[in-house]
Amino acid sequence: MMHKYGDCSFCGGEVKESMVDLDYRYKGKLYIFQNVPAGVCQQCGEKYLTAKVSKEIERKIQSKEKWSKTTPIPVEVFSKRAKA
Ligand SMILES: [Zn+2]
Repeated sequence: MMHKYGDCSFCGGEVKESMVDLDYRYKGKLYIFQNVPAGVCQQCGEKYLTAKVSKEIERKIQSKEKWSKTTPIPVEVFSKRAKA
């Protein structure tokens, strides 16, 4: 059953459910969830999670379960020189 999402609270666009990759920050750590059912605004791309999905995400982070995979994430700190 599809969850009914309201209109986007930022731009009022239509929010449709699709499977997305999600960056999720929790206590300073970055987690990536793939294939997450979420509402995506067709206009601005804002993502909306149902209460059920965000609960499952936090449960997973707090559990000691093994993750499907871990990946090194390249990080670049922008220097002053790069500023316009
Ligand atoms: Zn929007």
